[in-house]
Amino acid sequence: RGSCASDSSDSVISTGSETESQVYKVVLLGEHGVGKSSLARVFGGIEDAGHDCDETGNTYDRSIVVDEEEASIVLYDIWEQDNSQWLKEQCMRMGDAYIIVYSVTDKSSFEKASELRIQLRRARQSENIPIILVGNKSDLVRSREVSVDEGSACAVVFDCKFIETSASLHHNVQDLFEGIVRQIRLRKDSKEE
Ligand code: GDP
Ligand code: MG
Repeated sequence: RGSCASDSSDSVISTGSETESQVYKVVLLGEHGVGKSSLARVFGGIEDAGHDCDETGNTYDRSIVVDEEEASIVLYDIWEQDNSQWLKEQCMRMGDAYIIVYSVTDKSSFEKASELRIQLRRARQSENIPIILVGNKSDLVRSREVSVDEGSACAVVFDCKFIETSASLHHNVQDLFEGIVRQIRLRKDSKEE
């Protein structure tokens, strides 16, 4: 739990078969301030300064074991890196899976999440890419503006998974990334049949 992928040279050798050198690109989307970078740091296990995870700029490289099988994830926290249209389009194209984040304390970030879902659908029309809608900051009970029901209803409409997290409390962050891996595997399996 929370360990880094800096020793990934060992893990590549492990089980072999179809999992070898399988790296999943996961892209974080969402409005400024919703907690994308916080979630990414928890994922990378480097929320405490001085941890030696393999962090290159705003990408986080880590292997996690899900259902007894290892998966390598590169998590991209680059959506806000600059304001160029080029980068945004690049983001929409590059991901094997997407995490669309809003803050449960900010209704407008929730509305923005819907917009992003629509943009993503447009950019990747015929593809069935895994997406998880994430309501972050679930710890801020008193300032909540978006209910769990609203979040999950939105996910139903947009045909994606839904989870509420707290990057601050590390609540559900592990589940979020395990969920992403499972979804990617599901889509891969159904394609191969
Ligand atoms: P980003 O702009 O989407 O990358 O958001 P950041 O990760 O920079 O977070 C914005 C602010 O929200 C920071 O002050 C974080 O400490 C705070 N924050 C992020 N996640 C949580 C959370 O789960 N709970 C609380 N209470 N604050 C959070
Ligand atoms: Mg950020």
